[in-house]
Amino acid sequence: MKQKLIAGNWKMNGSLAANEALVHGVQQGLAQALGGKHAQVAVCVPAAYLSQVQQLVKGSGIDLGSQDVSAHEQGAYTGEISAAMLKDFAVRYAIVGHSERRQYHGETDEQVAHKAQHALSAGITPIVCVGETLAEREAGKTEEVVKRQLAAVIHTNGHCISEIVVAYEPVWAIGTGKTASPEQAQAVHAVLRAQLKAATEHSERVHILYGGSMNAANATELLAQPDIDGGLIGGAALKPADFLTIIAAAA
Ligand code: PGA
Repeated sequence: MKQKLIAGNWKMNGSLAANEALVHGVQQGLAQALGGKHAQVAVCVPAAYLSQVQQLVKGSGIDLGSQDVSAHEQGAYTGEISAAMLKDFAVRYAIVGHSERRQYHGETDEQVAHKAQHALSAGITPIVCVGETLAEREAGKTEEVVKRQLAAVIHTNGHCISEIVVAYEPVWAIGTGKTASPEQAQAVHAVLRAQLKAATEHSERVHILYGGSMNAANATELLAQPDIDGGLIGGAALKPADFLTIIAAAA
């Protein structure tokens, strides 16, 4: 069985001082949380702090991630950060297509697919986010939406698709304190797994994370589902004790 992956998404939070305290807090409790077992741990930090957090996590077993990557290789794209630049800071994961970027920055399925492609070609694992809004769920369109979002990434990335991480994040559960029930989440994860299976013989390698108000209290139940291979954690990743409890549940 593959190790579970717990990735923190700090979003637009932090400061030099707060980041240091947070990373140190996680580092101090990590061995105890893992209890001799294994889980992969990452923190996806604001771009401005990549260099700082690269130094902080060195040798700690915590991997570094970014929250976005450009869909372009280089050139006249003011404000963008390329996959090659991220690689310079030892970034291992790049979140792509987070619902906050799709919603506030108008990112399309095609742009998300190209972001994933640029990450992959730089040797960075894209964490591809998919998920339905409340209106889409209520209209019975959950499966259609997540399949469309993942299909664009599969279409653009072909045989590399087993190298991605997928994060199912129902938009109505993000930052709202409303979590998908383990059954609701598992049902969508099974759909995504089947879609990956049709695209690659290595589908079992792909981590499918759940995200959306995963916390210290509900992580165990969610992570017990057969197709939930970890979590993408927002709010709870900003508190060392909560993040460590989720890591312990994953180990
Ligand atoms: P949340 O965020 O855990 O605060 O709901 C998850 C995410 O948006 O990745």
